[in-house]
Amino acid sequence: MKKFLKIGTFILVSLVVFILAFVYISYNTWSPGEVKATVDPSALTYYQNSYAECRESFRKLAEEMIFKFDSVEVFPIRVNSRTDNDLTIDVCYIPAQKEKSNLLILSSGSHGVEGFVGSAVQQMVMKELLNKELVAETGVLFIHAINPYGFRNFRRVSENNIDLNRNFEVATDLFSLKNQGYSDLYGFLNPEGKANPESLKNRFFLLAALHKLVKESKKSLRQAIMQGQYQYEQGLYYGGQSFEPQVSLIAPVLKHYSGNYRKIMDIDLHSGYGELGVLHLFPDPVKDVKVKTAVEQVFAGHRIDWGDSDDFYTTYGGFSDYIGKLLPDKFYMPMVFEFGTLNSQTTIGILHSLQNMILENQGVHYGYSSDWTKEEIFMNFREMYCPSSLAWRSKAINDSRYMMETVFRNF
Ligand SMILES: [Zn+2]
Repeated sequence: MKKFLKIGTFILVSLVVFILAFVYISYNTWSPGEVKATVDPSALTYYQNSYAECRESFRKLAEEMIFKFDSVEVFPIRVNSRTDNDLTIDVCYIPAQKEKSNLLILSSGSHGVEGFVGSAVQQMVMKELLNKELVAETGVLFIHAINPYGFRNFRRVSENNIDLNRNFEVATDLFSLKNQGYSDLYGFLNPEGKANPESLKNRFFLLAALHKLVKESKKSLRQAIMQGQYQYEQGLYYGGQSFEPQVSLIAPVLKHYSGNYRKIMDIDLHSGYGELGVLHLFPDPVKDVKVKTAVEQVFAGHRIDWGDSDDFYTTYGGFSDYIGKLLPDKFYMPMVFEFGTLNSQTTIGILHSLQNMILENQGVHYGYSSDWTKEEIFMNFREMYCPSSLAWRSKAINDSRYMMETVFRNF
Protein backbone atom coordinates (compact mmCIF):
# COMPACT_ATOMS: atom_id res chain seq x y z
CA MET A 1 0.00 0.00 0.00
CA LYS A 2 2.82 2.36 1.04
CA LYS A 3 4.65 1.52 -2.16
CA PHE A 4 1.60 2.40 -4.30
CA LEU A 5 1.22 5.68 -2.44
CA LYS A 6 4.88 6.48 -3.09
CA ILE A 7 4.56 5.68 -6.80
CA GLY A 8 1.32 7.70 -7.01
CA THR A 9 2.94 10.73 -5.36
CA PHE A 10 5.95 10.41 -7.64
CA ILE A 11 3.74 10.34 -10.77
CA LEU A 12 1.70 13.30 -9.52
CA VAL A 13 4.77 15.40 -8.70
CA SER A 14 6.36 14.49 -12.04
CA LEU A 15 3.18 15.50 -13.85
CA VAL A 16 3.04 18.87 -12.07
CA VAL A 17 6.74 19.51 -12.81
CA PHE A 18 6.19 18.50 -16.43
CA ILE A 19 3.20 20.84 -16.81
CA LEU A 20 5.05 23.75 -15.16
CA ALA A 21 8.09 23.15 -17.36
CA PHE A 22 5.87 23.01 -20.43
CA VAL A 23 4.05 26.23 -19.50
CA TYR A 24 7.36 27.96 -18.70
CA ILE A 25 9.09 26.95 -21.91
CA SER A 26 6.19 27.39 -24.32
CA TYR A 27 5.31 30.84 -23.00
CA ASN A 28 8.83 32.19 -22.58
CA THR A 29 10.14 30.98 -25.92
CA TRP A 30 7.09 32.11 -27.89
CA SER A 31 7.41 34.54 -30.76
CA PRO A 32 4.76 35.79 -33.20
CA GLY A 33 6.81 34.50 -36.16
CA GLU A 34 8.05 36.27 -39.24
CA VAL A 35 6.21 38.44 -41.75
CA LYS A 36 6.25 36.80 -45.14
CA ALA A 37 6.87 39.79 -47.36
CA THR A 38 9.76 41.04 -49.41
CA VAL A 39 11.81 43.91 -48.07
CA ASP A 40 11.12 47.02 -50.12
CA PRO A 41 13.89 49.62 -49.70
CA SER A 42 11.71 52.42 -51.10
CA ALA A 43 9.05 51.75 -48.42
CA LEU A 44 11.70 51.85 -45.70
CA THR A 45 12.67 55.42 -46.55
CA TYR A 46 9.49 56.59 -44.76
CA TYR A 47 10.67 55.30 -41.37
CA GLN A 48 12.80 57.33 -38.99
CA ASN A 49 14.12 56.49 -35.54
CA SER A 50 12.94 59.37 -33.38
CA TYR A 51 10.02 61.74 -33.01
CA ALA A 52 12.23 64.67 -34.09
CA GLU A 53 13.31 62.90 -37.28
CA CYS A 54 9.75 61.81 -38.13
CA ARG A 55 8.53 65.37 -37.62
CA GLU A 56 11.32 66.78 -39.74
CA SER A 57 10.51 64.41 -42.62
CA PHE A 58 6.80 65.14 -42.30
CA ARG A 59 7.44 68.90 -42.34
CA LYS A 60 9.72 68.63 -45.36
CA LEU A 61 7.10 66.77 -47.38
CA ALA A 62 4.37 69.12 -46.14
CA GLU A 63 6.39 72.09 -47.42
CA GLU A 64 6.61 70.39 -50.80
CA MET A 65 2.81 70.25 -50.89
CA ILE A 66 2.77 74.07 -50.88
CA PHE A 67 4.50 74.08 -54.27
CA LYS A 68 2.40 71.27 -55.66
CA PHE A 69 -1.11 72.48 -54.77
CA ASP A 70 -2.96 75.76 -54.24
CA SER A 71 -3.68 77.30 -50.82
CA VAL A 72 -1.91 74.62 -48.77
CA GLU A 73 -1.46 75.45 -45.08
CA VAL A 74 1.31 73.97 -42.95
CA PHE A 75 1.76 74.81 -39.28
CA PRO A 76 2.77 73.36 -35.92
CA ILE A 77 0.61 73.47 -32.79
CA ARG A 78 2.67 73.67 -29.64
CA VAL A 79 1.74 71.25 -26.85
CA ASN A 80 2.77 72.51 -23.41
CA SER A 81 4.73 70.16 -21.20
CA ARG A 82 6.38 70.27 -17.77
CA THR A 83 9.60 68.82 -19.15
CA ASP A 84 9.87 69.56 -22.87
CA ASN A 85 9.43 72.85 -24.73
CA ASP A 86 9.69 71.34 -28.19
CA LEU A 87 6.56 69.25 -28.51
CA THR A 88 4.27 69.96 -31.45
CA ILE A 89 1.36 68.50 -33.32
CA ASP A 90 2.00 69.29 -36.98
CA VAL A 91 -0.76 70.03 -39.45
CA CYS A 92 -0.80 70.06 -43.24
CA TYR A 93 -4.04 71.02 -44.98
CA ILE A 94 -4.47 70.57 -48.71
CA PRO A 95 -7.82 71.99 -49.77
CA ALA A 96 -9.86 70.40 -52.52
CA GLN A 97 -8.59 72.20 -55.60
CA LYS A 98 -11.88 72.51 -57.52
CA GLU A 99 -14.93 71.76 -55.39
CA LYS A 100 -15.04 71.08 -51.67
CA SER A 101 -16.98 67.82 -51.50
CA ASN A 102 -15.00 65.44 -49.29
CA LEU A 103 -12.42 65.89 -46.58
CA LEU A 104 -10.07 63.06 -45.67
CA ILE A 105 -8.33 63.42 -42.31
CA LEU A 106 -5.25 61.29 -41.78
CA SER A 107 -4.15 61.39 -38.14
CA SER A 108 -1.20 59.75 -36.39
CA GLY A 109 0.37 59.26 -32.99
CA SER A 110 -2.58 59.56 -30.61
CA HIS A 111 -0.80 56.63 -28.98
CA GLY A 112 2.64 58.27 -29.06
CA VAL A 113 4.91 55.30 -29.81
CA GLU A 114 2.55 54.16 -32.57
CA GLY A 115 3.43 57.36 -34.40
CA PHE A 116 6.45 55.81 -36.15
CA VAL A 117 4.37 53.75 -38.53
CA GLY A 118 1.63 56.43 -38.58
CA SER A 119 4.11 59.08 -39.67
CA ALA A 120 5.55 56.71 -42.29
CA VAL A 121 2.09 56.17 -43.80
CA GLN A 122 1.38 59.91 -43.84
CA GLN A 123 4.71 60.56 -45.57
CA MET A 124 4.00 57.88 -48.18
CA VAL A 125 0.58 59.36 -48.97
CA MET A 126 2.07 62.85 -49.43
CA LYS A 127 5.01 61.66 -51.47
CA GLU A 128 3.35 59.07 -53.70
CA LEU A 129 -0.40 59.34 -53.88
CA LEU A 130 -1.55 62.93 -53.92
CA ASN A 131 -1.98 64.51 -57.33
CA LYS A 132 -4.12 67.27 -58.84
CA GLU A 133 -6.81 64.86 -59.95
CA LEU A 134 -7.10 63.14 -56.56
CA VAL A 135 -7.51 66.37 -54.67
CA ALA A 136 -9.84 68.03 -57.19
CA GLU A 137 -12.88 67.41 -54.95
CA THR A 138 -11.23 65.85 -51.90
CA GLY A 139 -9.32 67.93 -49.38
CA VAL A 140 -6.75 66.23 -47.16
CA LEU A 141 -5.93 67.20 -43.59
CA PHE A 142 -2.84 65.57 -42.09
CA ILE A 143 -2.50 65.68 -38.31
CA HIS A 144 0.95 64.45 -37.26
CA ALA A 145 1.77 63.27 -33.71
CA ILE A 146 -1.35 63.96 -31.64
CA ASN A 147 0.64 62.78 -28.60
CA PRO A 148 4.15 64.16 -29.20
CA TYR A 149 5.28 63.46 -25.61
CA GLY A 150 4.54 59.75 -25.97
CA PHE A 151 6.04 59.75 -29.44
CA ARG A 152 9.31 61.29 -28.26
CA ASN A 153 9.55 59.11 -25.15
CA PHE A 154 8.37 55.86 -26.74
CA ARG A 155 5.29 55.74 -24.55
CA ARG A 156 1.76 55.03 -25.63
CA VAL A 157 0.31 57.52 -23.18
CA SER A 158 0.67 61.25 -22.54
CA GLU A 159 2.89 62.99 -19.99
CA ASN A 160 0.05 62.49 -17.48
CA ASN A 161 -0.11 58.75 -18.11
CA ILE A 162 -3.33 59.32 -20.04
CA ASP A 163 -4.37 57.20 -22.98
CA LEU A 164 -5.44 59.94 -25.41
CA ASN A 165 -7.61 57.51 -27.30
CA ARG A 166 -9.75 57.25 -24.15
CA ASN A 167 -9.77 61.01 -23.53
CA PHE A 168 -11.36 62.63 -26.61
CA GLU A 169 -14.98 63.57 -25.93
CA VAL A 170 -17.35 66.50 -26.22
CA ALA A 171 -18.96 66.01 -22.79
CA THR A 172 -17.26 65.47 -19.43
CA ASP A 173 -19.53 62.66 -18.21
CA LEU A 174 -16.88 60.36 -19.61
CA PHE A 175 -14.77 60.95 -16.51
CA SER A 176 -17.38 59.56 -14.15
CA LEU A 177 -17.53 56.20 -15.97
CA LYS A 178 -16.86 53.26 -13.67
CA ASN A 179 -15.31 50.08 -14.98
CA GLN A 180 -15.93 47.41 -12.34
CA GLY A 181 -14.27 44.69 -14.43
CA TYR A 182 -11.07 46.73 -14.42
CA SER A 183 -11.24 47.38 -10.68
CA ASP A 184 -11.46 43.62 -10.09
CA LEU A 185 -8.28 43.14 -12.11
CA TYR A 186 -6.42 46.17 -10.74
CA GLY A 187 -3.68 44.32 -8.82
CA PHE A 188 -3.02 41.97 -11.72
CA LEU A 189 -2.74 44.81 -14.25
CA ASN A 190 -0.80 47.22 -12.09
CA PRO A 191 1.72 45.39 -9.88
CA GLU A 192 3.83 47.46 -7.51
CA GLY A 193 7.62 47.35 -7.02
CA LYS A 194 10.50 47.44 -9.47
CA ALA A 195 9.71 45.98 -12.86
CA ASN A 196 11.52 42.73 -13.55
CA PRO A 197 10.57 40.52 -16.52
CA GLU A 198 12.85 37.79 -15.14
CA SER A 199 10.96 37.42 -11.86
CA LEU A 200 9.22 34.12 -11.20
CA LYS A 201 5.88 35.92 -11.26
CA ASN A 202 6.57 37.23 -14.74
CA ARG A 203 8.06 34.00 -16.00
CA PHE A 204 4.83 32.28 -14.94
CA PHE A 205 2.62 35.14 -16.16
CA LEU A 206 0.68 32.65 -18.25
CA LEU A 207 -0.45 30.77 -15.13
CA ALA A 208 -1.66 33.92 -13.39
CA ALA A 209 -3.49 34.95 -16.56
CA LEU A 210 -5.03 31.50 -17.03
CA HIS A 211 -6.37 31.76 -13.51
CA LYS A 212 -8.18 34.98 -14.54
CA LEU A 213 -9.33 33.35 -17.77
CA VAL A 214 -10.89 30.46 -15.87
CA LYS A 215 -12.99 32.96 -13.89
CA GLU A 216 -13.89 35.21 -16.85
CA SER A 217 -14.20 34.63 -20.58
CA LYS A 218 -11.51 35.97 -22.91
CA LYS A 219 -13.98 38.40 -24.41
CA SER A 220 -15.10 39.91 -21.10
CA LEU A 221 -11.50 40.16 -19.85
CA ARG A 222 -10.46 41.93 -23.04
CA GLN A 223 -13.39 44.30 -22.71
CA ALA A 224 -12.73 45.05 -19.00
CA ILE A 225 -9.08 45.82 -19.64
CA MET A 226 -9.18 47.70 -22.93
CA GLN A 227 -12.33 49.78 -22.74
CA GLY A 228 -10.43 52.25 -20.56
CA GLN A 229 -10.78 53.39 -16.95
CA TYR A 230 -11.10 56.78 -15.28
CA GLN A 231 -10.19 55.96 -11.69
CA TYR A 232 -6.55 54.94 -11.40
CA GLU A 233 -4.09 57.54 -12.60
CA GLN A 234 -1.08 55.24 -12.60
CA GLY A 235 -3.01 52.38 -14.14
CA LEU A 236 -3.03 51.05 -17.66
CA TYR A 237 -5.64 52.45 -20.07
CA TYR A 238 -6.24 55.51 -17.89
CA GLY A 239 -8.53 58.00 -19.63
CA GLY A 240 -7.90 60.87 -17.18
CA GLN A 241 -10.06 63.00 -14.93
CA SER A 242 -10.13 65.95 -17.33
CA PHE A 243 -9.29 66.60 -20.95
CA GLU A 244 -5.69 66.62 -22.06
CA PRO A 245 -4.60 69.87 -23.82
CA GLN A 246 -4.83 68.13 -27.20
CA VAL A 247 -8.62 68.15 -27.09
CA SER A 248 -8.89 71.94 -27.06
CA LEU A 249 -5.91 72.33 -29.40
CA ILE A 250 -7.28 70.10 -32.14
CA ALA A 251 -11.01 70.90 -31.91
CA PRO A 252 -10.72 74.36 -33.58
CA VAL A 253 -8.56 72.89 -36.37
CA LEU A 254 -11.15 70.22 -37.11
CA LYS A 255 -14.00 72.73 -37.01
CA HIS A 256 -12.22 75.27 -39.18
CA TYR A 257 -10.98 72.97 -41.94
CA SER A 258 -14.11 70.86 -42.18
CA GLY A 259 -15.94 74.11 -43.05
CA ASN A 260 -17.49 73.65 -46.49
CA TYR A 261 -17.09 69.92 -46.92
CA ARG A 262 -20.16 67.71 -46.89
CA LYS A 263 -18.56 64.34 -46.32
CA ILE A 264 -15.70 63.75 -43.89
CA MET A 265 -13.67 60.67 -43.09
CA ASP A 266 -10.91 60.27 -40.53
CA ILE A 267 -8.39 57.47 -40.71
CA ASP A 268 -6.59 57.29 -37.38
CA LEU A 269 -3.34 55.34 -37.63
CA HIS A 270 -2.48 52.80 -34.92
CA SER A 271 -0.27 49.77 -34.43
CA GLY A 272 0.28 46.93 -31.97
CA TYR A 273 -3.08 45.18 -32.01
CA GLY A 274 -4.06 42.23 -34.17
CA GLU A 275 -2.36 39.67 -36.36
CA LEU A 276 1.34 40.09 -37.17
CA GLY A 277 1.83 41.97 -40.43
CA VAL A 278 -1.88 42.48 -41.12
CA LEU A 279 -3.52 45.85 -41.67
CA HIS A 280 -6.80 45.63 -39.77
CA LEU A 281 -9.68 48.00 -40.42
CA PHE A 282 -10.95 48.58 -36.93
CA PRO A 283 -13.28 51.61 -36.66
CA ASP A 284 -15.04 52.71 -33.52
CA PRO A 285 -18.46 51.03 -33.57
CA VAL A 286 -21.03 52.83 -35.71
CA LYS A 287 -24.77 52.61 -35.06
CA ASP A 288 -26.01 54.64 -38.05
CA VAL A 289 -26.70 52.17 -40.87
CA LYS A 290 -26.15 54.82 -43.57
CA VAL A 291 -22.70 55.64 -42.21
CA LYS A 292 -21.82 51.97 -41.83
CA THR A 293 -22.86 51.25 -45.42
CA ALA A 294 -20.89 54.24 -46.69
CA VAL A 295 -17.74 53.10 -44.86
CA GLU A 296 -18.20 49.61 -46.27
CA GLN A 297 -18.46 51.09 -49.77
CA VAL A 298 -15.25 53.06 -49.33
CA PHE A 299 -13.38 49.93 -48.22
CA ALA A 300 -15.13 47.68 -50.68
CA GLY A 301 -13.71 44.18 -50.67
CA HIS A 302 -11.85 44.54 -47.36
CA ARG A 303 -12.92 43.06 -44.06
CA ILE A 304 -13.93 45.62 -41.45
CA ASP A 305 -13.91 44.68 -37.75
CA TRP A 306 -16.82 46.66 -36.38
CA GLY A 307 -15.91 45.97 -32.78
CA ASP A 308 -18.63 43.37 -32.47
CA SER A 309 -16.56 40.31 -33.43
CA ASP A 310 -14.98 38.12 -30.72
CA ASP A 311 -11.51 39.50 -31.38
CA PHE A 312 -12.27 43.13 -30.75
CA TYR A 313 -13.64 45.40 -28.07
CA THR A 314 -15.44 48.71 -27.63
CA THR A 315 -13.86 51.77 -26.07
CA TYR A 316 -14.80 55.28 -24.95
CA GLY A 317 -13.06 58.56 -25.69
CA GLY A 318 -11.59 57.52 -29.05
CA PHE A 319 -10.24 60.25 -31.32
CA SER A 320 -11.89 59.02 -34.49
CA ASP A 321 -15.28 58.75 -32.80
CA TYR A 322 -14.85 62.21 -31.28
CA ILE A 323 -14.67 63.97 -34.66
CA GLY A 324 -18.19 62.78 -35.47
CA LYS A 325 -19.48 64.17 -32.16
CA LEU A 326 -17.64 67.45 -32.68
CA LEU A 327 -19.12 67.89 -36.17
CA PRO A 328 -22.71 66.66 -35.80
CA ASP A 329 -23.89 68.42 -38.99
CA LYS A 330 -21.49 66.54 -41.23
CA PHE A 331 -21.79 63.15 -42.82
CA TYR A 332 -18.91 61.64 -40.90
CA MET A 333 -17.20 58.27 -41.36
CA PRO A 334 -14.72 57.02 -38.74
CA MET A 335 -11.94 54.57 -39.49
CA VAL A 336 -8.93 53.21 -37.64
CA PHE A 337 -6.03 51.41 -39.30
CA GLU A 338 -4.42 48.98 -36.89
CA PHE A 339 -1.14 47.40 -37.97
CA GLY A 340 -0.90 44.07 -36.14
CA THR A 341 2.33 42.95 -34.50
CA LEU A 342 2.01 40.35 -31.74
CA ASN A 343 -0.85 38.15 -32.91
CA SER A 344 -3.10 39.51 -30.21
CA GLN A 345 -6.01 37.61 -31.74
CA THR A 346 -4.50 34.51 -30.07
CA THR A 347 -4.53 33.94 -26.30
CA ILE A 348 -0.75 33.68 -26.03
CA GLY A 349 -0.31 36.76 -28.23
CA ILE A 350 -2.67 38.95 -26.23
CA LEU A 351 -1.00 37.83 -22.99
CA HIS A 352 2.44 38.81 -24.26
CA SER A 353 1.03 42.16 -25.41
CA LEU A 354 -0.56 42.75 -22.05
CA GLN A 355 2.56 41.73 -20.15
CA ASN A 356 4.67 44.15 -22.23
CA MET A 357 2.29 46.96 -21.35
CA ILE A 358 2.15 46.06 -17.66
CA LEU A 359 5.95 45.95 -17.34
CA GLU A 360 6.42 49.22 -19.23
CA ASN A 361 3.90 51.03 -17.05
CA GLN A 362 5.29 49.46 -13.86
CA GLY A 363 8.83 50.49 -14.82
CA VAL A 364 7.80 54.10 -15.41
CA HIS A 365 6.12 54.32 -11.99
CA TYR A 366 8.31 52.10 -9.81
CA GLY A 367 11.64 51.81 -11.61
CA TYR A 368 13.44 48.72 -12.88
CA SER A 369 15.25 45.87 -11.16
CA SER A 370 18.37 46.62 -13.27
CA ASP A 371 19.59 48.58 -16.29
CA TRP A 372 19.46 45.38 -18.24
CA THR A 373 15.78 44.69 -17.45
CA LYS A 374 14.99 48.31 -18.29
CA GLU A 375 16.53 47.76 -21.70
CA GLU A 376 14.63 44.50 -22.19
CA ILE A 377 11.28 46.07 -21.25
CA PHE A 378 11.91 49.06 -23.48
CA MET A 379 12.91 46.87 -26.43
CA ASN A 380 9.89 44.56 -26.13
CA PHE A 381 7.58 47.56 -25.90
CA ARG A 382 9.07 49.26 -28.92
CA GLU A 383 9.03 46.06 -30.95
CA MET A 384 5.35 45.69 -30.16
CA TYR A 385 4.43 49.09 -31.60
CA CYS A 386 7.04 49.57 -34.28
CA PRO A 387 8.75 46.30 -35.13
CA SER A 388 12.30 46.58 -36.46
CA SER A 389 11.53 43.83 -38.99
CA LEU A 390 12.15 45.31 -42.43
CA ALA A 391 9.59 42.94 -43.92
CA TRP A 392 6.96 44.15 -41.44
CA ARG A 393 7.75 47.79 -42.17
CA SER A 394 7.70 47.24 -45.93
CA LYS A 395 4.39 45.43 -45.77
CA ALA A 396 2.79 48.13 -43.62
CA ILE A 397 3.64 50.74 -46.24
CA ASN A 398 2.70 48.60 -49.23
CA ASP A 399 -0.62 47.53 -47.66
CA SER A 400 -1.37 51.15 -46.78
CA ARG A 401 -0.65 52.31 -50.30
CA TYR A 402 -3.04 49.74 -51.68
CA MET A 403 -5.68 50.58 -49.06
CA MET A 404 -5.35 54.34 -49.52
CA GLU A 405 -5.71 53.97 -53.29
CA THR A 406 -8.97 52.14 -52.61
CA VAL A 407 -10.07 54.96 -50.29
CA PHE A 408 -9.32 57.74 -52.78
CA ARG A 409 -11.03 55.81 -55.55
CA ASN A 410 -14.25 55.14 -53.61
CA PHE A 411 -14.54 58.12 -51.30
ZN1 LIG B 1 -3.26 52.65 -30.73
